[in-house]
Amino acid sequence: MSGLRDAVLEARDVTVVPDGGRREILSGASLGIRAGEVHALVGPNGAGKSTLFGVIAGDVVPSAGSVHLDGVLLAEFRPRDLARRRAVLLQQNAVSFPFTVAQVVAMGRAPWARTPLADDDEAAIAAALEDTDIVDLADRTVPSLSGGERARAALARVLAQRTDILLLDEPTAALDLRHQEDVLALAVRRAREGAAVAVVLHDLNSAMAHADRVTLLSRGRVVAAGIPAEVLTAERIEEVYGQAVDVFPHPATGVPVVTPRRRASDRPAPW
Ligand code: ADP
Ligand code: MG
Repeated sequence: MSGLRDAVLEARDVTVVPDGGRREILSGASLGIRAGEVHALVGPNGAGKSTLFGVIAGDVVPSAGSVHLDGVLLAEFRPRDLARRRAVLLQQNAVSFPFTVAQVVAMGRAPWARTPLADDDEAAIAAALEDTDIVDLADRTVPSLSGGERARAALARVLAQRTDILLLDEPTAALDLRHQEDVLALAVRRAREGAAVAVVLHDLNSAMAHADRVTLLSRGRVVAAGIPAEVLTAERIEEVYGQAVDVFPHPATGVPVVTPRRRASDRPAPW
């Protein structure tokens, strides 16, 4: 597939059938992540987004299909080498032991222990705390944090790893409006600096505004992939999500805006 030619991390025709099951939760899905780009993965609950992420992260072994990193089969990488190439923010990132935020973020540096890059540990940790706006929380224990604060601490750990591939599964799900924008702006910045960034998003407006490329999954299959405005048409969103929407250009930027279709008569004006 020529569209995936220059991908640094690439899943080809991946199928996943969970142990003991017969149902495919991914069916022939392909995804290519390129340097310099933010690639959004979108789709309804249960579409297979986290499973596909697990596959490209090397955490889920596909029943069929292949995953390549720099053209080499992912299975051939040692865990340590993989951890130096890509950092993964899982959708579930529970820390139950009372580590402090600073300790958790420092864990992101583990792959660089006993390498020259360990000299960057302090700077990497400081920058990650700064970038996720949790400097003031550094000495707090993670279980004492709010959901959104905890999510930012988990993201900081991933950022501190300083890899050139970032895989972020719903990094904005628990965040307030400003922190959502901050995280997506950060993803874009990392991409512009040369990183390959993949991010699972539910907010289609965020995908429209921040992603260079989007892959839409539905029932384990890739329904469409490409430029956000071309993938996320009203017709396709309605078909995949089962929700009527309006898509119209933002008056200032022209970026398409997606809203659920609401009739004026559904709600009397409160003014
Ligand atoms: P998404 O992240 O898009 O919401 P997931 O990839 O987490 O979806 O899951 C896709 C589907 O596969 C869901 O229906 C989920 O319940 C199912 N699933 C995920 N992991 C397993 C598993 N280990 N065994 C059985 N079903 C699974
Ligand atoms: Mg998921």
